[in-house]
Amino acid sequence: MSKRVVLTIDDIPQMVTKNMVDYLVKNNIPAVMFAVGENIEKHFDTVVYAIKNGITVGNHSYSHPSFSAISYEEGIEEIEKTEVLINKAYEEAGLPRKVKAFRFPYIDKGGDKKELFQRYLRENGFMKIDDSEIEAKSYYLVGHDKDIDVACSFDIREYNVPSNDMTFDEVMLHLREGDGEDGADIMNRDGYNIVLFHSHDDTEKVVPKYYVTILDELLNAGVIFTESEWKN
Ligand SMILES: [Zn+2]
Repeated sequence: MSKRVVLTIDDIPQMVTKNMVDYLVKNNIPAVMFAVGENIEKHFDTVVYAIKNGITVGNHSYSHPSFSAISYEEGIEEIEKTEVLINKAYEEAGLPRKVKAFRFPYIDKGGDKKELFQRYLRENGFMKIDDSEIEAKSYYLVGHDKDIDVACSFDIREYNVPSNDMTFDEVMLHLREGDGEDGADIMNRDGYNIVLFHSHDDTEKVVPKYYVTILDELLNAGVIFTESEWKN
C-alpha cells in the first residue's frame, strides 16, 4: 500500500504557473491543470509551455462563474469558448490532446441544471478521471463518483490564505491532519486521492513559493504523485 495522489491545479495560467511547471518537472510530479479561458488569452505561451512539459490541460470555463448562477446556454458557451483556446494551445505545442477534461469553477455543478450539464459533457467527448480507488466517504456522499466532471477527494484549501479565511499555518495543519472520519487524509493513511490545488498569483504574493512548501511536505511524507487515468 502507499499514499497515492493525483494532483490537480486550477485557475491557470497566471504569472506563477510557469515556475510551478518547472517545479513539477524537476520533481517528476505529473499534474492536471485546469485552465480558465480568460487567463489563456492573457498568458497563452504559459499554457503551451505547460503542455510541452507534459502537463494535462483541462477546461475550467471561460470566466470562472458559478454554474448554478448562469443559464444552461451561458454555461455551454463558457465551456466551448475555452475548448477552442485549449485546442489552439495543443496545436501550438505540437502535441495531441489525449484527454478532454472539465472541472466546474468552485465545483458548482449547476444546481437544478446539473443533469443537463452532465449530459452535455458525456455527449461531447469529455472523459471521466479514474476515481474507482477513492476511499473518502465524503466523495460518495455528494455523488462525485457518478459524475463525469473532475471533482476532488481532498482540498488543500491554500486559496483561503489571501482573503485571510485561513492562515498558512492552518493550511499546513489541515494538510498534516487530514479531513477527519469521513474524509481523506493524504499524509498519514495509505490510499488514493484526487487533490485540489491552485496556481494563484495572490497566494504567491502572500506566501512566496507556497507550492514548494506544500508539495515538498507531501514528497517528504512519502506521497506518490501518480499519472491520472481516464475513461470515455
Ligand atoms: Zn477555479
